Amino acid sequence: MAHAELRGVVALDGPSGTGKSTVARKLAAALSASYLDTGAMYRAVTLAVLRAGVPITDEAAVAEVAASTLPVMGTEPLLPTVALAGEDVGQEIRGAEVTGAVSAVSAVARVRELLVQEQRRIIREALDEPGGVVVEGRDIGTVVAQDAGLKVYLTASSQARARRRSDQDVAAGRTSDLERTHADVQRRDAYDSGRAVSPLRMAEDAVELDTTDLDVAGVLEQLHALVDTRGLFAGVESTR
Ligand code: C5P
Repeated sequence: MAHAELRGVVALDGPSGTGKSTVARKLAAALSASYLDTGAMYRAVTLAVLRAGVPITDEAAVAEVAASTLPVMGTEPLLPTVALAGEDVGQEIRGAEVTGAVSAVSAVARVRELLVQEQRRIIREALDEPGGVVVEGRDIGTVVAQDAGLKVYLTASSQARARRRSDQDVAAGRTSDLERTHADVQRRDAYDSGRAVSPLRMAEDAVELDTTDLDVAGVLEQLHALVDTRGLFAGVESTR
């Protein structure tokens, strides 16, 4: 197979535990593209809010923390990084405390405004380089990159998503309780879908991909086919 490079933006949206991060990174790596994890940005701002001792219900104070501490993102898919004021917070943002608070912080309109602006800047920068960019989140197809060449909305049953999240926690050495994880997945779904600003929903021109019964290789195969169908392989003829 000829070496394929991505052209433009692939937007991957969907609720938590659909395997977005894993497949987004692998897709970006295979296509020499950059990778942007927008969830990590909301998590990093949430960590900054918690560290500042600001109540997450105080929207004005939360917005102020976000404005003064934008996370710095590394977009290399094999080693994505997230830093706050020079400190690598990649591990800490995955902890239970941040996970419990992130939906509330990401529902604050001013926080979204600031982060969407920064996400668009990072995307523009990535598009200046050869190879496109794979962006994952909740509102990439609907808000951040509405003109993305390919928008995919990943879904899976809430049980399957809770199981994946739980397996990830165990693999990363964190304690995990499947029932609690399932409840957390459902709570965050409800919060993310019900918020007033940029609720989680599928873009009208997105392709829905149910990953409940697919493994990573199966999802990637479908994504590569979609990239091909949309003519987003740069500089090479179709690989299929
Ligand atoms: O993808 P991840 O689980 O790391 O995202 C954490 C949280 O960040 C989500 O539950 C959601 O509340 C928020 N988020 C968002 N918009 C995005 C990405 C994430 O509101 N584009």
